[in-house]
Amino acid sequence: MSEGRGRQNYIDGVWQASASPAAIPVVNPATELVIAEAVASSEADAARAASAARKAFDRWSQTPVAERIALLERVRAGIEARADELAGLITAEMGCPIGFSRAAQIGLAVGDIRATLAVAAELDDRVLGRSIVQNDPVGVVVAITPWNFPLHQILAKIAPALAAGCTVVLKPSEVTPLDAVILAEIFHAAGTPPGVFNMVLGGRETGAALVARPEVDMVSFTGSTRGGRAVAEIAGRELKKAALELGGKSANIILDDADLEKVIPAALGQSFINSGQVCAALSRLIVPESRRAEVEAIAVEAAKSWTLGDPTDPANRLGPLANRAQQEKVRQAIGGAMQEGATLLCGGPDQPAGLPKGAYVSPTILSHVTRAMAIFREETFGPVLSVIGYADERDAIWIANDSQYGLSGGVWSESLERAEGVARQMRTGQVILNGASLDLAAPFGGVKQSGLGRENGRYGLEEYCSPKAITRPIRA
Ligand code: NAD
Repeated sequence: MSEGRGRQNYIDGVWQASASPAAIPVVNPATELVIAEAVASSEADAARAASAARKAFDRWSQTPVAERIALLERVRAGIEARADELAGLITAEMGCPIGFSRAAQIGLAVGDIRATLAVAAELDDRVLGRSIVQNDPVGVVVAITPWNFPLHQILAKIAPALAAGCTVVLKPSEVTPLDAVILAEIFHAAGTPPGVFNMVLGGRETGAALVARPEVDMVSFTGSTRGGRAVAEIAGRELKKAALELGGKSANIILDDADLEKVIPAALGQSFINSGQVCAALSRLIVPESRRAEVEAIAVEAAKSWTLGDPTDPANRLGPLANRAQQEKVRQAIGGAMQEGATLLCGGPDQPAGLPKGAYVSPTILSHVTRAMAIFREETFGPVLSVIGYADERDAIWIANDSQYGLSGGVWSESLERAEGVARQMRTGQVILNGASLDLAAPFGGVKQSGLGRENGRYGLEEYCSPKAITRPIRA
C-alpha cells in the first residue's frame, strides 16, 4: 500500500482529500508501531458521500439484478486476487494470526458475496392476493462496521445492500481502515458506477454525521451495544431504518451424555477463536455440576494447544488483542472475576511471560463462575472462558437464558435430537449443534440487547428491501 492511502475518502467514483486535517493513527497491536494515519473525516465529507449515494440511487435501483450480480462477482474476484495483501494488512491492523486472516477473514468476506449471489435472483416479484409485491431497495444505506472481522462485516452488509439495488456509504472501523481502502480500490477497478459505493474514513463522530444525513434511508451497524444505541437514537429521531448487530455473552451447554474428551477441546475453540473477539463467542461453558472436575482437567490441558505470540508466525493460534485499551478491559474483567470469587484455572490478567510488548492476553479459563459475577453478564471480548455448573437440563437452559444478550448459543450431546430440543428453548438468534461450522445461508443476528435485524443469505438480503404492493381491482 502506498504511503498516505488512508488520507483520502472514496466518494462518487474518485479518491478525494478530506475536508478535515485530523487523523487517527493505525497501530499494529503486536509491534505497537504506528503503521498508518487515517483521516478523521468531517461532516462536510459525510455530506458529500451521502449526496453522491443519493444521486446514484435512482439509476442503480433500476438496474437489472443480473448487472448488480455481475459487479459483485467482479468484486469477489478482486478480493481473491488481493487475498494475501488483505490478509497481511488485517493481521497488521488488528493482530489476528496470519493463517486465520487468510482462512477466516478473507474466506468469510468471499463467502458473504457468494451467499448473497446465491439468493439475489430470488428478489423476483411475488403475487399475494390481488397484489404484486415488488422488492424495492430501501435506498441509501450507511454501513458502520467494527474491527474484529473487518472485511467480513463490511461485505455482510454491502453485498446484499448493493444486490438489492441500494447505494452505500461505508464507514469502516477507525482501528482497521486499511483493508477497507483496498476494498474501495477493488470496487473502483471492478467498474462500479460513481456514487454506488462510497467510503468515508473516521471514528464515531464521522459515523454519527453520516447517520444524521437527510439523504440516508437506513443504517446497518455492527459494534458495541453502546454504539448501536447511539446510532439507533439518531435513526429513531429521523425515522430511518436501523439494523443492529451488537454484543453477546453466549452460552455453550454441554449435556450430561456428551463425550467430554471430544467436546471440551472443541468448545474451547468456540470461545478462544480470534482471541475471543467474536460477538458470537460461546464464552459461558455450562456443564453438569457432577462432571465439573472432569471438564476442568480436560479444558486446562486443551488450553495448552492455544499457542500465543507473533501473529505473523503461522505456528501461533492466538495473536494480541486489537489494541492496548481492549487488553486493559479484558485484564480488568479477569481480575474482577477473581476478586468476586471465580477460580482461575489457567491464563490470568498479567502480561504473558515472554511477550513484554504487545496487547497480549493468555487464554484464560475461570471456574465456579456464578450468576452474581460481572464476568457472567458482561461481554469480555477476549480469550476468556467461564465455566458454570448446572443441576439438570432445565437449570442449564435457565442459566443460558439468564442474559441481557441473545446472539448465539451452542448445545453438545451424543443425541442431535436431544440437542435440538434444548436449542429450541434458548432465547437467542442462533444455536450451533455439536460444533457445526458457520452457515452463511442462515440468518445471523440477535434478540434482546444483541440487536435488531438479521444478516446473511435470504434474510440478510430482505433487510435491504422494502416490499411494495401493487394492487389490482377485483374486476380488472
Ligand atoms: P464500537 O461500537 O466502538 O465501534 C463499531 C463501529 O461503530 C466503528 O466503526 C465506530 O467508529 C462506530 N461507532 C461507535 N460509536 C458510534 C456512534 N456513537 N455513532 C456512529 N458510529 C459509531 O465497537 P468496536 O469496538 O469496533 O467492536 C467491538 C464491539 O462490537 C463488541 O462489543 C462486539 O460484541 C461488537 N460486535 C458485534 C458483532 C455482531 O455481529 N453482533 C460483530 C462484531 C462486533
